[in-house]
Amino acid sequence: MRRFAAYCLFLLLLPVCNPAQDAKALPPPDERYKADILLVVAHPDDEGAATPYLARAIYDERKRVAVVFTTRGGSGGNDYSREHGPALADIREQEGRRACATLGITNVWFLDGKDTASQNVLNSLANWGHGANLEALVRIVRLARPEVILTWLPSIFIGENHGDHQASGVLATEAFDLAGDPVAFPAQVAGASKRLEPYLENLTPWQPKKIYFFSDASDEKQFAGKGPAYSVKEISPSQKKPYWRLALEAAKPHLTQFPGEIHRLSDLNDEQLERLMSDPEHAWWSEPMTLIFGKATVPTQPTDPIFPDVESGLKQPSGPVKSDGGPGVVSDSTQPVILELGDPWHFYGAFRHAHKLTKLPAARIPEIAVKDGSVVGIPLVITRKPSAAREIMVKVTASSGWKVLSGEGKFLLADVEANYLRVELQSPQIAENELKGRQPDSIVVSGMAGDKSIGQAELRVLLRSSTLPQ
Ligand SMILES: [Zn+2]
Repeated sequence: MRRFAAYCLFLLLLPVCNPAQDAKALPPPDERYKADILLVVAHPDDEGAATPYLARAIYDERKRVAVVFTTRGGSGGNDYSREHGPALADIREQEGRRACATLGITNVWFLDGKDTASQNVLNSLANWGHGANLEALVRIVRLARPEVILTWLPSIFIGENHGDHQASGVLATEAFDLAGDPVAFPAQVAGASKRLEPYLENLTPWQPKKIYFFSDASDEKQFAGKGPAYSVKEISPSQKKPYWRLALEAAKPHLTQFPGEIHRLSDLNDEQLERLMSDPEHAWWSEPMTLIFGKATVPTQPTDPIFPDVESGLKQPSGPVKSDGGPGVVSDSTQPVILELGDPWHFYGAFRHAHKLTKLPAARIPEIAVKDGSVVGIPLVITRKPSAAREIMVKVTASSGWKVLSGEGKFLLADVEANYLRVELQSPQIAENELKGRQPDSIVVSGMAGDKSIGQAELRVLLRSSTLPQ
């Protein structure tokens, strides 16, 4: 019996002790899903913000592109047929897939975010299930292994300013920073589990090299020089058509979103189309398309073209993400009590600092567009050091026609580090013809503790005939 046990032990040790045995190749990652560019956007049709550049990358630079939609667009309108809500989401998913397929993009994933109609990024993140969708996006980054991520700018500007757009940029930024870290979502990178234990994923940590943004702000010109610019009018050498034309073809599946435009454009001949798209009033894309540089793990300048740097930097070990070294959170920490604009503006201060994106464009004075006649909320955060004064006075100065509804006067702060207040104002109702060309109004909230200023929060508010809810 003892001899038998010794024999078994010998058998067990045999593979380890035999140096002549050939090494077995482990299966490689699935190359069918490898991407050069991963586009992360919120709604089916958002890809249209980048398609003139993507057409160039796909047809003339031979880049592999994959797309993540963080929602299925279920709370958008349907201007084409009767379906709404979840049924519309089913349609819009197909529209998004068809639009991508027009450019040859077949690796398209949808996350589980709920289309959330507001301008507040935090509303979107709350309604989406931030954590679960971040985990899902990190998984796709590790699976698709993109060199570059393109996404919406996480920032607040007068414009569509969709909270979902911003939230997709927040998730993409977080995924850029987490996907290369083996400690983040470790079950994704643990692996080789037994056949019937299919929970560990066997992915590899992956650090994308660059992240760029684009914006839904009304004034795109303000981003000139913040990143590389690509002509949308240039003729694609391989397709013999301008890039805008290739992008236009890819927009046509989105019938639920702009059926009138699609039908009208389909009836135009080449010459009429060309004329329409050269008119800045009607062109779907401004010339050139400017991206906003975020950060990189390879040596690069913000306005350098995207790919040559990535390719020359490929063989270098990826160093720490290049920091822009800006100040980030702006609070003067020596002051005992500080009043500032609250969330989502306050969140973005901390977010940019945490992700080393302090040079990302932000409005010099915070701004937003709202519907005329609506109630506007000004969120405030008041931070105080222990033992600092608790009694404060809040005063509001607004352009004429605005009426303060609440949030002004004397307040006793709770004995905690951060207090949150909200000032509400009724905006004036403006005649339709006076809204055109109107400049933003100014609202200034100032705080005092005794005879000392604790700060001012200013918001420029542009009144428009329609906007997403604040
Ligand atoms: Zn959108």
